[in-house]
Amino acid sequence: MDDYHRKLGLDRAITRRDFLNGAAISVAGAYTALRGSGLLGQSSSPTPALGADIYPPLRSGLRGNYPASISEFDNIRAGQYDKFPVADADIRESYDLVIVGGGISGLSAAHFYRKALGEDQRILILDNQDDIGGHAKRNQFDYAGKTFLGFGGTMAIATPYPYSYAAKALLQELGIEVMRYPEFINHDLDTKYHLRSAMFFDKEHFGEDRVVAGLGRLPWKDFFAQAPLSAAAQRDLVRLHGKNPDYMAGMSVVDKKAKLARISYQDYLLHIAKMDPSALPVFLGDGERNNKRVDTLPALEAAQHGSIGFNGLGLKLEESFNEGSFFFHFPDGNASVARLLVSRLVPAALPGEQSMNTIVGAKLLYDQLDVADAPMRIRLNSPVVRVEHQGPIESAEWVRIAYRQNGKLSAVRARNCILACYNRLIPALMPEIPARQKEALAYPVKVPMVYTNVLLKRWTAFQKAGISRFSAPGMYYPYVQLDPGTTVGGYSGVTTPEEPILVHMMANPNKPGLPRKEQNRVGQQELLTSSFQKFELEVRQQLARMMAGTGFDPAEDIAAITVNRWPYGYAYTYDSLADPDVPQEQRPHILGRQRYHLVSIANSDAGAAAFTNQAMDEANRAVEELLVRQGLT
Ligand SMILES: Cc1cc2nc3c(=O)[nH]c(=O)nc-3n(C[C@H](O)[C@H](O)[C@H](O)COP(=O)(O)OP(=O)(O)OC[C@H]3O[C@@H](n4cnc5c(N)ncnc54)[C@H](O)[C@@H]3O)c2cc1C
Repeated sequence: MDDYHRKLGLDRAITRRDFLNGAAISVAGAYTALRGSGLLGQSSSPTPALGADIYPPLRSGLRGNYPASISEFDNIRAGQYDKFPVADADIRESYDLVIVGGGISGLSAAHFYRKALGEDQRILILDNQDDIGGHAKRNQFDYAGKTFLGFGGTMAIATPYPYSYAAKALLQELGIEVMRYPEFINHDLDTKYHLRSAMFFDKEHFGEDRVVAGLGRLPWKDFFAQAPLSAAAQRDLVRLHGKNPDYMAGMSVVDKKAKLARISYQDYLLHIAKMDPSALPVFLGDGERNNKRVDTLPALEAAQHGSIGFNGLGLKLEESFNEGSFFFHFPDGNASVARLLVSRLVPAALPGEQSMNTIVGAKLLYDQLDVADAPMRIRLNSPVVRVEHQGPIESAEWVRIAYRQNGKLSAVRARNCILACYNRLIPALMPEIPARQKEALAYPVKVPMVYTNVLLKRWTAFQKAGISRFSAPGMYYPYVQLDPGTTVGGYSGVTTPEEPILVHMMANPNKPGLPRKEQNRVGQQELLTSSFQKFELEVRQQLARMMAGTGFDPAEDIAAITVNRWPYGYAYTYDSLADPDVPQEQRPHILGRQRYHLVSIANSDAGAAAFTNQAMDEANRAVEELLVRQGLT
């Protein structure tokens, strides 16, 4: 290793490898021993004596869609399981309902089904990952005698449109009182330590590395005056952040909106608002909008989101739902929602009365998830490879579901099945569904995303810099933030500068210039072919550059890194630039999610919206469809 990489700390002993490459391991023996020692299932005290070998949230290195969890996907797509791979005579387990996918949608589907038909229904959830929750992933670090929690994906109960009655009622049943969030949030970090937001201008896009602190606080004129930008760029950015003239004067509001729906935000800025092109890099990788980018975001959507440059146009935009009015963030994100669902489905796995006040500190007993003869079972490390009705489809009474576990193929049989997994995989999982439906299911391309949690031994350098979050346009991680620390359920993430803290870093690999779906495909490929070492190098280099001159030492200060790479991230959402303007009922997600005999389809993909409430609503609909088919409603 050369000096440069050594200085960054790439030779340092941190827990950085993907644990056993995520391969399935037997945990039962180890759990029995731990329970005997009284270390599990107790209060929410920190420093549980758990190891990453038996406790998946503690695994660091590469997480998210880690390699072993998705290693079957290519085989499935290549048709390796076109013939159902398990003989009927070898199918030993039968269920009332089998759910493929243990994310929030799959878990909610089990909940709704049991609510409708009773807790004696025999239900099995199969998931390819080693942990529950899908995108709602808990990252846990036990370090220096304390537990630090981060979110590896789904960050919060937050949505641009209101929760439905069903989703709100579910949250209530789980004991989550969203309106109480202000009691748990730490408002102190910034005020107590005089921390601000900053923008990092990198030399690749702006000619030199420079930090300008005071983003959003300083008057824009003073802020951009310090930036390494041309005078024209500074002038135009100040203009756009202020009260704009009507750049589309002479057009009716209807015509303005129609035009804005057909051009990108980038084209609006450059050609209508006449922004100097040298200012464009400032808009690269906007951390607030990781689903859409300046070159693919329709200008009208940008206006609706309150982006700069539109306030002189008199657009009369409908008042949108106030996202902040319904918000709750657990330290591990919506993994707490998933864990609360599990506590209702399989109480033995999370003993005691679990609510929002206890769930964060509760230890999940993974060996209780899949106990023989229990009516409700959750089987992890089990990628489903094939789903097929047994016998002639019209008269079939069973669905067969084949999966791989510990390298071995097995199958179960179910009266009903819900596919709450990635919708785009369904045509290959279940080749018997009609061609038109398969075509619709194959339409969306999920958004590639990376949520990396870096545990720092101390954050005195951030205190010295007076910065708690960075916007870093164009860099690998355009958004970087110190975890502000939520205090809930006996857990407190609040730390002093001399103590460890988590830094959250977000990335959205893409390829500016290509259409949005193409950019998603390129980003997915990039994530699928990037090693943990690549992410680690990006983390260390970027932190070293942003924190230069503050005493930050990437070799010394970093204790652990967990990279949640999600090539299969957000559900695809439509927009007026990239997708045909067709009536709602002809949208691909609607055509794709139709029940096919004994099988219905859930997941947020089925709602074409990347939110927890959508995952719940799609679960509710999928269950309803199965109940209606059975003549039960
Ligand atoms: C990084 C990130 C941040 C997000 N932040 C938020 C947020 O703050 N708020 C919000 O509301 N939403 C957020 N979302 C959106 C999130 O997708 C939804 O909120 C919700 O968690 C989706 O749940 P789901 O069950 O529909 O899908 P998933 O969570 O993706 O669950 C699907 C499950 O199916 C499994 N699966 C796939 N194929 C197979 C197979 N062949 N066999 C077995 N199992 C399979 C998957 O591994 C996964 O566990 C975020 C998403 C990401 C990726």
